Amino acid sequence: MSRYLALVPAAGSGSRFGGPSPKQYLQLNNRPLMWHTLQVLSQVAAISRVVVVISPGDEWFDDFEWDLPKLSVLRVGGASRAESVRNGLQAMEASEQDWVLVHDAARCCLSVAAVERLIATLADDPVGGLLALPVPDTVKRADGEGRISATVSRQGLWLAQTPQMFRAGLLAEALAAAAVADITDEASAVEQYGHKPRLVEGDAQNFKVTYPRDLALARAILAARKE
Ligand code: C5P
Repeated sequence: MSRYLALVPAAGSGSRFGGPSPKQYLQLNNRPLMWHTLQVLSQVAAISRVVVVISPGDEWFDDFEWDLPKLSVLRVGGASRAESVRNGLQAMEASEQDWVLVHDAARCCLSVAAVERLIATLADDPVGGLLALPVPDTVKRADGEGRISATVSRQGLWLAQTPQMFRAGLLAEALAAAAVADITDEASAVEQYGHKPRLVEGDAQNFKVTYPRDLALARAILAARKE
C-alpha cells in the first residue's frame, strides 16, 4: 500500500527576509516558525513520516526542541529549493508509489483540513496536484517604470501554494529531467515532464512568510487557532 510522506525543504537562507537566522527559525508564539509547519503535517493522520531537509551547514536546528514523533531530519539541502527537494527525495528512500507531499517550511499557517482535502481529492489521481488559490484581485502588468502596461484577465489564473503532492517515482523522474535552476515548484517540473497536475482549492491563510511584515499575520492566525 502506498504511504503518504511529507517532505519539507527548509534549507533556504531567507535572503528576502533578512535577519541573523533563516526565517524558518524565527520565534513565533514560543516556537521556531517551522515547528508550527511540521506540527500541522504531523497531525494529519494519513501522513506517516515528516521529513525536513536542512542545509548541511545548518547551525540552528539542534538548538531547538522539536518533540514531533513522526519527524526526521536530513542534512542534504542544496543550492535551490528544487535541489533540496531532489536530494531529500533520494535520501528519504520512498517507494515509487508512495505519495510525497512537498511543503514549504515557511507556510506555517497551513491547516490540517486543507491537507486532508488535498489527500482526499487526489487519492485516485493519476498525476497528483497541489493546493492553489484562484486569483481574487484584478491583475496588472507593470512596465519598467512602475506604471501599468496592461490589465491581465484573472480568468483561470491561480496562485500555486503547497503542499504539492505527487508519487515519489514520478516526482523524482520529473525533477531529474528538469533544469532545477528554473523550477520554483514541483508542479512545474511535472508539467515540463508532460503531465497536468490538478489544482485543489486552498485558502488564503496558507501564505508563505516572505517579509518581516508577514510575521504579525502569522502570529495572529496561530494564536487564534489555539484559543
Ligand atoms: O525562498 P523561498 O521562500 O521561495 O523558499 C521556499 C522553501 O524552500 C523554504 O521553505 C526554503 O527554506 C526552501 N529552500 C530550500 N533550499 C534552498 C532554497 C529554499 O530548501 N536552497
